[in-house]
Amino acid sequence: MLTVPFHKPSIGLEEIDEVVDTLKGGWLTTGPKTKKFETEFARYLGHQHAVAVNSCTAALHLALEAIGLEAGMSVVVPTMTFAATAEVVRYFNAKPILVDCQATDFNMDVADAELRIQTALTRGEKVTAIIPVHYGGQVGDVAGVATLAQRYNLKIIEDAAHCCPAFYRLDANAPWQSVGTAADISCYSFYANKTITTGEGGMACTNRIDYADRMRTMSLHGISKDAWKRFTSEGSWYYEIIAPGFKYNLTDIASGIGLHQLRKADLLRHQRMQLANRYAELLGAVDELILPTEHPNRNHSWHLYVIRLKLEQLTLDRGEIISELKKAGIGTSVHWLPLHMHPYYRDTYGFQSEDLPQAARLYPEIISLPIFPGMTGPEIEYVCDQLKRIIAGHVKASAKMPLPKLQETITGNLQSITSGCKP
Ligand SMILES: *Cc1c(COP(=O)(O)O)cnc(C)c1O
Repeated sequence: MLTVPFHKPSIGLEEIDEVVDTLKGGWLTTGPKTKKFETEFARYLGHQHAVAVNSCTAALHLALEAIGLEAGMSVVVPTMTFAATAEVVRYFNAKPILVDCQATDFNMDVADAELRIQTALTRGEKVTAIIPVHYGGQVGDVAGVATLAQRYNLKIIEDAAHCCPAFYRLDANAPWQSVGTAADISCYSFYANKTITTGEGGMACTNRIDYADRMRTMSLHGISKDAWKRFTSEGSWYYEIIAPGFKYNLTDIASGIGLHQLRKADLLRHQRMQLANRYAELLGAVDELILPTEHPNRNHSWHLYVIRLKLEQLTLDRGEIISELKKAGIGTSVHWLPLHMHPYYRDTYGFQSEDLPQAARLYPEIISLPIFPGMTGPEIEYVCDQLKRIIAGHVKASAKMPLPKLQETITGNLQSITSGCKP
């Protein structure tokens, strides 16, 4: 039996040698390699400034601090995201306005965001920012978010944790640009299972020097500029604290890994894209599944490969399929239990699951399959064979017969039309 993990990082000899070089060089924490990583990262994605930090969560926190988020304000956040996107809002004692997702790509439903902003405004809330997430690496509705931000005077902080790299263009004649280009600040993650990794790490990018300066200062205790240089020959022993900052700086050990990961980012994305294409070939004919697709003019980083189960045609649920896959040695994951269904957000803001109906409806249907550069042909074939075997053994009898199946499809369509309507 093969075993296929959910993820394996792609670490080469270059990364290993660079870490050894850093250790031998004696400069372990933030230093020249981090500066170089920032410069190359900014250049690669076409952003003016990049501030390296020790996680994407830290980047999001610094971004909200830089735009001046204060207690009592509100920030628009998708419910279909990881903990970090909303917890950083709570760090300020500000309120996340959770927004529903679209069934097509799990990205934030911009029309729903507008309705919820209007409701918040009528309650007298001060809505100051929006944090779109590009789910799994599929670029979301960047233009829609920009229009919304302009209409309601919101700062845009993009949670681009899945997007190194992901590019889009506004139409077929427009130039390709990185996610984050239309944002005030965009935040990337180098967590162990992200598209490129430094073990732990993140980057906050912006075209505004004032935001970059503030984030840099706040990432290292609120110490005036280039604090890390104080231990070098160019630096000085004297520094001043201008605000109570944080300890979010990235080490040179991590940045050394990042430099090499960055140089491979296009290649790694290409390999994930080939795996996504292979999944589409191998699973395309399975009636009980809905496979992810890529929007035209918005490319997908393929950080995640998330399939949907047509549960009404199956006699087992998502949890059972995941444990069957696990028994076959295959690692999977679920991205995510929507935030509004977690105890903290449910209890703090009084959410019912149906308050964000699409996310609640999609949640039981989703499974993230293994996708990582280095995944072999036999491995992906094994995953698909096992998934097909499990599904084939559990198709509802009614779904096998042509006539009832037709009826089910009709009702299914009606249901999806009804549930697609806004309240
Ligand atoms: C991984 C992730 C983060 C947090 O990244 P860290 O680098 O682990 O802090 C934030 N948002 C999303 C959507 C993520 O998937």
